[in-house]
Amino acid sequence: MAQLINGKQLSAQVLAQVAEDVQQLTAERGVCPGLAVVLVGEDPASQVYVRNKVRSATTAGIRSIEHRLEASTDQQTLNALVAQLNNDPEVHGILVQLPLPPQLDEAQIIAAINPEKDVDGFHPLNVGALASAQPGLVPCTPLGCMIMLQQAHDDLSGKHAVVIGRSNIVGKPMAALLLQASCTVTTVHSRSKNIEAICRQADILVAAVGRPEMVNADWVKPGATVIDVGINAIERDGARKLVGDVDFAAVEPVAGAITPVPGGVGPMTIACLMKNTLTAARRQLSVSNLAVAVRHA
Ligand code: NDP
Repeated sequence: MAQLINGKQLSAQVLAQVAEDVQQLTAERGVCPGLAVVLVGEDPASQVYVRNKVRSATTAGIRSIEHRLEASTDQQTLNALVAQLNNDPEVHGILVQLPLPPQLDEAQIIAAINPEKDVDGFHPLNVGALASAQPGLVPCTPLGCMIMLQQAHDDLSGKHAVVIGRSNIVGKPMAALLLQASCTVTTVHSRSKNIEAICRQADILVAAVGRPEMVNADWVKPGATVIDVGINAIERDGARKLVGDVDFAAVEPVAGAITPVPGGVGPMTIACLMKNTLTAARRQLSVSNLAVAVRHA
C-alpha cells in the first residue's frame, strides 16, 4: 500500500510556519504582510478559490484585501486597480484570480503586476528567474508539489521525473523545479507519443492534465511517487464528485507514495500562496536581487 502524502495535514504545517514567521516579521519590523485578491466577475469556482485564499490568509495572520469587480470590467479599469495596488506600500502580494472574462487580456494584466508583488509567480520576470535559477516568486501549485515530494524523498537527485502537462501555471514551472532538484525530467503533453510507456519509467510522476482519472495502474512503475494535480468535477452514481487526473483506487496499490484528491495538492497551493506573500513582504523590506534587476530593466 502506498504512503499517503496528506496535503491537508502538510498545508496546515506550512500555514503554521508562515503564521509564526509573520508574527516575527510584524514584531521586528512593525509590518503585517498584505495580500490583495482581485476577482473579476462571478465565476462560481473562482469565488470558492478566493474565499479559501482569504480564509487561509486569516489563519496565517496575513491581512487580505478583496477587490471584486463586475464581469463587464474593461482593461483600463483593471489596469488602474493593479497600478494602485503596485504603489500601495501596505500591499505586498497581488493576486488576480484567473480566468478573466474574455474581454480582458490576461497576459497584459499579469505583466502589469509589479514582479515583486506577483505572488502567483506568473510574471515573465519571475518565469525567467525560475528558468535561470535566480531568486523570484515561484508558482504556488508546483511549489506545493515540491514540498510534498520532499516528504516522500530525502533526495530527488538523479530520479526520473515525468510531468504530464505543459501549461504555464503548472506543467512548465513544475518541470523547471524538478530540474533544479537535479531530477532527469521528461514533459509529455497532448501531442506526445507512447505516453503510457514514458510514464511507466518515472520514479516521480506528476499529472497536471485536467482529464478525470486518466492515469491508471498500467502507467505507473511499482513504487513510484505519484502527484495528482488534477481537479475534475464529475457525476458518478448520480452525485457530483471531485476526482484527480489519476485513478486513485487503481494506482494506490502500485505506487510507493501518492497524493489524494481532494486533500492533496489543492490545499498545498493555497498554503504556498501565503508562503509567497510572506517571501514577497520580506523581500520588499530589504532590497532583493529581483528588485535591482527590475529597476535596471
Ligand atoms: P491546462 O489545460 O492549461 O493544461 C493541460 C495540459 O495537459 C496541456 O499541456 C495539455 O497538452 C495536456 N494534455 C491534455 N490532454 C492530454 C492528454 N490526453 N495526454 C497528455 N497530455 C494532455 O491545465 P492546467 O495545467 O491549468 O491544469 C491541469 C489540471 O490541474 C486541471 O485539472 C486543473 O483544474 C488542475 N489544477 C489544480 C490546481 C491545484 O491547486 N490542485 C491548480 C491549477 C490547476 P497541450 O499543451 O498539448 O494542449
